[in-house]
Amino acid sequence: MNNINYNLEMEKIIDKNRKEGLKPKLLMQVCCAPCSTTVMHRIKDDFDIDMYFYNPMIYPKTELEKRSDYVGVLAKRIGIDGKVIVPENDVRDFYDVAKKRKDSAEGSEACYDCYKLRLRETAKYAKEHGYDYFCTTLSISPYKNSKWINEIGRGLEEEYGVKYLYSDFKKRNGYQMSIELSKKYQLYRQSYCGCVFSYNEMKEHNEKMKNDDTGL
Ligand code: SF4
Repeated sequence: MNNINYNLEMEKIIDKNRKEGLKPKLLMQVCCAPCSTTVMHRIKDDFDIDMYFYNPMIYPKTELEKRSDYVGVLAKRIGIDGKVIVPENDVRDFYDVAKKRKDSAEGSEACYDCYKLRLRETAKYAKEHGYDYFCTTLSISPYKNSKWINEIGRGLEEEYGVKYLYSDFKKRNGYQMSIELSKKYQLYRQSYCGCVFSYNEMKEHNEKMKNDDTGL
């Protein structure tokens, strides 16, 4: 099933629920506050949303805590009634993915596994706690592969028996909107994806830019 417009798929689901007068319970895996802005704006009136901050790969720990704290800040500023759930984020959960990621670039198969790790935990929690849907904010990023994310969601939907909310939040200018909303809500915006590898790549890039500027 190639070239599916997952944003349209989401809109069909929302239309159907509206017609039936339903406001389903949704567990949303959130990677950070800025990526959650557009997502919450778009769907907060159509679902009862709890946010699930499961991102065990985020390095260093201070960054993990900062991103998680800002999700709470956003929830208050944007007016989300649901909970912000922060389960244990144990970096050891990420070790198998790290073995692949250390020899590959951002956007490689290791990142597929990283999406899956986070979505699997979300689907599992959603199943155990009686949610109607689960989803993730990850598709808002232009660096994230929405086809992979939705395929993973479809597989986990079958495995856990909880509906996945198909979506592609970068559509309809979603990413640009998240930048503007992050400014509006005065949110911290990080400059790397999350794991130690992306952290080191960001550092190297910044160093190179600095040297280029100084002609070194
Ligand atoms: S670059 Fe991002 S998606 Fe890829 S492994 Fe690191 S944290 Fe996960």
